Amino acid sequence: MGLEAFIRAAGSVVDTEVEPRYLSGARYGTGGSPAVCRPGTAADVAHLLQRAQEHGVRLLPQGAHTGLVKAATPQGEVVLSTERLRGVFELDALDRTLRVSAGFRLSEVNERLRPHGLQFAIDLSADPSIGGMLAHNTGGTRMCRYGDVRANTLALEVVLPDGEVLTLGRGLAKDNAALALQHLFIGSSGALGVITEATLRLQALPRHTAVALVAPASLEAVWPLYQRFTQAWGGLVSAFEGLSANALAAAIEVRGGASPFAQGLPPYSLLIELAADFDGVDLRALLHGELEAAFERGDVLDAALDKDDALWALRHAVSEGLRERGAVIGFDISLPRRAVWAFRAEASDWLSGEFPPAQVCDFGHLGDGGQHFNLVWPRAAEPLDAQALQRLREGVYARVAAHGGSFSAEHGLGPLVQGTYRAHTASALRQASARVVAALTQGALGPGTFDFG
Ligand SMILES: Cc1cc2nc3c(=O)[nH]c(=O)nc-3n(C[C@H](O)[C@H](O)[C@H](O)COP(=O)(O)OP(=O)(O)OC[C@H]3O[C@@H](n4cnc5c(N)ncnc54)[C@H](O)[C@@H]3O)c2cc1C
Repeated sequence: MGLEAFIRAAGSVVDTEVEPRYLSGARYGTGGSPAVCRPGTAADVAHLLQRAQEHGVRLLPQGAHTGLVKAATPQGEVVLSTERLRGVFELDALDRTLRVSAGFRLSEVNERLRPHGLQFAIDLSADPSIGGMLAHNTGGTRMCRYGDVRANTLALEVVLPDGEVLTLGRGLAKDNAALALQHLFIGSSGALGVITEATLRLQALPRHTAVALVAPASLEAVWPLYQRFTQAWGGLVSAFEGLSANALAAAIEVRGGASPFAQGLPPYSLLIELAADFDGVDLRALLHGELEAAFERGDVLDAALDKDDALWALRHAVSEGLRERGAVIGFDISLPRRAVWAFRAEASDWLSGEFPPAQVCDFGHLGDGGQHFNLVWPRAAEPLDAQALQRLREGVYARVAAHGGSFSAEHGLGPLVQGTYRAHTASALRQASARVVAALTQGALGPGTFDFG
């Protein structure tokens, strides 16, 4: 049989005792796999991919398994874990670049960079692998300042399913000497090749930061505040996050603290961070002054300041807090800024009419138009069956589309959004994508349950 022959040919990096962590991701259930491969080098990866192709076995690349669209959870595929791809860690402090193997975790990369005053400036509440971040083009809370993974990647090493190892880019800041194929692999959700190494663009660590949790006077006051901050302080604005009262309450509950506001929870809050990588600027005074002026204008009702770590801890506790409250139905969407509130109102109205138990607990990266429009379905309510859940999902996505938004802002593509991809992606684009996947891989890699066509 193909699988047994593959396992024999693949050698010692394959294990048929599959530990549960390879089968269960951060959310959304458990899968199944007959084996896990743990290559240590690009040559190992090439060998495995060639043997898999020879024996008709489908491999599924997996990093830290924190992805949220089920793309790394095997449904019968053999797992290709990248966790042992850790041979390269080369810092160029002058060019501010890092050549790094795909198996490193984000936290470890940043710990090692800290003594050099540098960072890979993607921030999120999980600890993914570098390869997984590239494959899903991760965004995160500081995207409004530094951009996503794509914006911070200069070169890749990728192994194609036939074992060919491609070096894409030289890690230079400017380089137009070839087609920039690295961008094809960034955001490809593991379907085009195995990313074994990347050269990342680094940023200086901030020397000063100031954070405020702000209660705007109304939703209408939010974008004028955003414009005021970004026009006045430009690149100093390093986060502009939004939190509905439900999301903030869940975070406070799970951390067991009191409300950071004197007057109870406002319907919507903003977490605003200023950061500077140079001295000579008093960010706290600047933030206080800006918020005081907004208070005088009537744009802001209240603000909690000078508790930077505690405020970020609250923001990062939202996902866990929502899970404590019930079953989370997640939507990772983005919209033009002008459409954010109209979408929110329409989707919330529709949900309260059609699915009364659903609690809208939206939060996320408001500054870049992103929103985790997450719902909690309370445990006490009758569970949704698959058909009703699909109707709910499609109802929300239809409203996202009507406002010119995207159903996948930063979590990538995977089986969880397969139906939505089909419904909301133009047929010509799907066909062109399927041709690219087929040309590079004959569809032999990645989640067998996701089809680009
Ligand atoms: C609590 C929590 C908060 C999160 N917050 C955010 C957020 O703010 N912003 C955001 O963008 N995401 C967020 N995520 C999602 C997730 O962390 C990212 O999608 C992350 O980049 C996935 O990386 P990973 O290593 O866990 O990849 P995995 O989950 O292991 O894999 C993800 C995809 O990448 C593929 N893949 C993995 N490694 C490779 C490789 N070397 N070569 C080719 N393909 C590969 C897999 O096949 C799969 O398709 C969050 C997740 C959690 C659990």
